[in-house]
This record gives sequence, structure tokens and C-alpha cells, in this order.
Amino acid sequence: MIKYRELLENTKVYKALDGDIAEGRLNHCYMIIGEDSLAVEGLCSLFAQRILCSNGGCGKCISCQKVEDGNHEGVFRPKNLKADGIREFIEKVYVTSESDVKVMVIEELDKVDAKVQNFLLKSLEEPVDGVVFVLGVRRQTAVLETVKSRSKKLAVAPFSKSQIGAYFSDTFRGYSKAVVNEAVDCCLGSLSRCDELLEDEEFGGDMTDVVFLLKGLTSTKVNLKMQGRLDIKDGKLVKYLDIMQLICGVLLKRQSGIEVEGFEKLRPLANVFTVPMLVNFNELLVNARQKTESYCKDENILDNLFIKLLEVKYLCR
Ligand SMILES: [Zn+2]
Repeated sequence: MIKYRELLENTKVYKALDGDIAEGRLNHCYMIIGEDSLAVEGLCSLFAQRILCSNGGCGKCISCQKVEDGNHEGVFRPKNLKADGIREFIEKVYVTSESDVKVMVIEELDKVDAKVQNFLLKSLEEPVDGVVFVLGVRRQTAVLETVKSRSKKLAVAPFSKSQIGAYFSDTFRGYSKAVVNEAVDCCLGSLSRCDELLEDEEFGGDMTDVVFLLKGLTSTKVNLKMQGRLDIKDGKLVKYLDIMQLICGVLLKRQSGIEVEGFEKLRPLANVFTVPMLVNFNELLVNARQKTESYCKDENILDNLFIKLLEVKYLCR
């Protein structure tokens, strides 16, 4: 068993801040970048604790407790991510506070409109003594270059399978061992993804169905029978497409010599498809995914997809 805190303190991102403080060169703005929301959120809070705690971010003192409970007088977060919320938040940079150091936290900067992100620039360009910004970002493309260039950027790397496994240990929240293992195996090192997969009771079965289907991709006749195995009622097609895309991505990486931990279920698909096939598959899946947002019927999208997958498999032999 490993605790959330321990897991995050072990990341390069946290160690970078720790090193900066130890060397007395705390930056005025840190940007924590990663798709894993649970990791980014947790790191934002740990950063605030580490910066404000006189005990190295112990997690136990009053200061750390207050940060964790969200009522530390030195930690500021916007009340909302719209113009008024961010404007009010920035004003606090210039107001004297009870705390010697102010930590200005925006956990989801990428959800702030680009125009509104501009409000941050002045405070980032002319740093105020005793003020540190901690900005969480999921999608880098949604953040202004001018904001990025004034921040110390720290990317959250995926956790290892053994780390995630230890964290989501078999008794975690009452899930069965099989369900936890499956989620840990397919989460690509992301805490948030693992959490989502745990909530999704059908994931394991859906994955098995898709693997079975891809393995049997041979002739149209066989194919129609296999296709029947996918139950696309209730808008489930999108989910199957997402799983297929996920599988394609993993196989493509592996075929290109990049190691991907986990995904035991994909063993039967090892070396079944070539790189060109997978690249084409991926394109077809993206197209199919777009069609689900138009008025096309789900059955037609699936039929069409399978005919094309077969075609690609035949042409790229
Ligand atoms: Zn502390």
C-alpha cells in the first residue's frame, strides 16, 4: 500500500520544487503539466504545502493541514475561471495579507479563456516578492505562449504499473482484485484513468470483446458474425471506438519498439498487425468517431468501419 502523498512526493515534478527551495531559488511561477488530473491537483496542493510549511512540507503541521483543508490564509484560488473570477484573483497579488508568502493556485489554467489568461501576464512579467504562482495544465495547447514562457514548466510523467498497483491495492474502495488489476493494467500510468476504469464495471468485458474481434479480422462473412458480438445499443459505439483507438495506440507503440507497460489482454494481438495497418486503422477510427457526432446511424458507422478495416488489412499485408 502506498499513500497518495507518498506517490506524488516521489515524482520528478515535486522533487524539482523541493530542490529549488533547498537551493534558495524558488521560482515565481510553476506550471504543472499533465493529463492526469488527480496527479496535477494533488501536486498543486503539495506545492502550496511545501512552499508555506517551515518544516519542508511535512503534511502534519497546522500550516499543511490548513492548505489541505483549503483554508490557509496564504493560499489563493479563483472563485471561478471566468473574467471576473480571475480578475479578483489577480488583485489579491497586490493586497497585503496575513501570510508572508502567498501561493496563487489555478488548478485548471487550460480551462481559462485565452483572453482572460492575459490578466496574469503583468504579475508574471513583474514578479512580486513573496508571491508564487502554481498553475495546473491538462492541455498545453490551450495556454498562451506568453504565460508558458514565464513559468517553470514541469511535466508529470506516467506512474509505473507497480506504483499504481500499490496505490490502488486490492482492497481499495471495496473493488475486487480482478477489477483493480484490469484497471491498473490499462490505465497507462494515470491515476485519473485508473480511477475512471474502476468506476466502469463493463470495461474489462468490452475490452475482451474488442480484442476478440480484432483478432478475428479475416473475411466479411466471419466479420459480420463477430461484429454481432459488439452490443452498440445505448450509444455504446463511441466507447468501443475509444477502446479500439486505445488498443491501436498501444500496439503501434509496441510495434515501433516503444515499451508500454500492462495491457496483458493484447497479447493475442502481438504481431497480428503491421505498422502501416495500425496507422491506417487509427485514421479510420478517428473518422468513425467524427461520424458518431453527425447524423449517421451507429450500425452503418460500424459496418462501414469493418469493411474498411478488412480492406486495410488486405492491402497492407
Ligand atoms: Zn508542514
